[in-house]
Amino acid sequence: MDAEFTREWRCRDCGRLLGKTNGSQMQIRRKPLDYVVGFPVLATCPGCGSLNVTNKP
Ligand SMILES: [Zn+2]
Repeated sequence: MDAEFTREWRCRDCGRLLGKTNGSQMQIRRKPLDYVVGFPVLATCPGCGSLNVTNKP
């Protein structure tokens, strides 16, 4: 039913891929778990440690 997660969400500072969105939810993959969350999303970049926030897909 849900659209595929095809749109990338990247760290604003270093460009590392943080997750992918399908327009209504965000998929975050950090082994060994996958997360699918709603907006807004807050994530700390695993590369540079910057706090990234996104309110909209
Ligand atoms: Zn980063």
